[in-house]
Amino acid sequence: MDTILIVEDEPKIADILAKYLANSGYATHWITQGTEVATWVKEHQPVLILLDLMLPGKDGLEVCKEVRQFTATPIIMLTALTEEIDRLLGLELGADDYICKPFSPREVIARVKAVLRRTGNNDSASTATVTTANEVNKTNGLLLERDRLTVHWGKQETALTLVEFELLETLASKPGRIFSRQHLMEKAYPDNRIVSDRTIDSHIKKLRKKLDQLEPERELIHSVYSVGYKYEP
Ligand code: CA
Repeated sequence: MDTILIVEDEPKIADILAKYLANSGYATHWITQGTEVATWVKEHQPVLILLDLMLPGKDGLEVCKEVRQFTATPIIMLTALTEEIDRLLGLELGADDYICKPFSPREVIARVKAVLRRTGNNDSASTATVTTANEVNKTNGLLLERDRLTVHWGKQETALTLVEFELLETLASKPGRIFSRQHLMEKAYPDNRIVSDRTIDSHIKKLRKKLDQLEPERELIHSVYSVGYKYEP
């Protein structure tokens, strides 16, 4: 059974989440301390992490950063801080989604399923994944591996966040074509979330940095002044 890790210091919230997730067919494991997360994730490889922002020991943002150094396992941040800046911070550190407290457990389940669907961590998505990976590979020299949220370039590879993956896949699907920020936003956030242009820019910036490590010789993603971005090796 797929295990979802719940990192939450409030037992009541953790308990409700565990119950709802169990009803949806997921096993769960509950951790209260931010300091224990990385070790557990390495040993048990959960399919997804629900990560509270305010935690004793090490807070959610630090934990997110730490986990992102070794895995692309989807992370959904749980946060009571509603300021936009905090949401952005969470995403820039590599979280795949965020949910604001107070939330309904049903909303959490829906988001969990959506993120797992997007990351290809379920059976129905795996066929499409292979097709996409092969197509991208053939045309552009990039291989995008959705199951592992990984991009390969030659013998190199690097892990991406879900949003970075969606952006790269969209751009690389039509080399040379300019994509508007609006279009990219819709691809990266299929739930029609309203995000600012700056959010897209910041994800692209991080994506570029990662691609730059794979291919320092040339730029793969180009910005088109006041319009958007294109992929052109
Ligand atoms: Ca908390």
